[in-house]
Amino acid sequence: MTQYNLSGKIALVTGGSRGIGRSIVQMLSESGATVAFTYRSRKEEADSLVAELQSKGGKAVAFQSDAANTAQSNDVVQGVIKEFGRLDILVNNAGITKDGLLMRMSEQDWDDVIATNLKSVFNFTKAAVRQMMSQQSGKIINISSVVGITGNAGQANYVASKAGVIGFTKSIAKEIASRNVQVNAIAPGFIETEMTEKLNEKQKESILGIIPMRRMAKPEEVASVVCFLASDGANYITGQTLCVDGGMVM
Ligand code: NDP
Repeated sequence: MTQYNLSGKIALVTGGSRGIGRSIVQMLSESGATVAFTYRSRKEEADSLVAELQSKGGKAVAFQSDAANTAQSNDVVQGVIKEFGRLDILVNNAGITKDGLLMRMSEQDWDDVIATNLKSVFNFTKAAVRQMMSQQSGKIINISSVVGITGNAGQANYVASKAGVIGFTKSIAKEIASRNVQVNAIAPGFIETEMTEKLNEKQKESILGIIPMRRMAKPEEVASVVCFLASDGANYITGQTLCVDGGMVM
């Protein structure tokens, strides 16, 4: 995979212990960045990732924190700035699904998904922008989803959160463009992680039928796009949503 030079950059990734986030943390570190990441509950996986990166000579730190919680998110951002002196790259990746048809969707399932997937993006972005604006540089990359563009039956809460992330991305991109902070979104299609492991064989088969490339992606195929958007090569791109989906949405 193409390597981008992120030496000396300080990055923060939410939900970095597993899946796409883990791959993003690994690739940012391999590209030279110092990486802080959050996780919600699975400490062993977070610890093993820190140890893995450190054994390769990287600098990494994990924070246990609920991305849906505004005070905790603020503490994480302040902690990173205190420890490393700046913040160059924020990747809002933490996300969950609680799928179901609207008629059967509980208020709790709606609230949980909106809080973890959308409010978290507000929490971390708000906490990070002041620092980035004063640095006169920064990259914010929000992980949305193709279903945030197309809609998907049985995922009204998730789709609303991911469409919200795209709208938020555009608005903040406009608010802070003049301060040289770029804000973009990535809309992955179907990626091989625990989130998609929940799908049964029949669901997987019908999904492959709508992907022109006829395969799901590996998490690294999203992580490499994050590294591109975090690099100087993407300095003139802001407010965009890049689909990483094997051609599903054109
Ligand atoms: P996984 O379920 O594999 O991993 C989710 C990660 O987020 C874990 O590290 C988890 O930590 C963390 N997390 C979950 N809730 C919280 C929370 N409240 N606070 C902090 N961290 C939290 O998910 P994926 O890697 O598949 O998904 C990553 C992102 O990509 C999500 O935003 C998802 O919506 C999006 N996406 C995924 C697609 C896919 O096909 N997989 C497609 C399109 C978008 P812990 O281990 O501690 O629970």
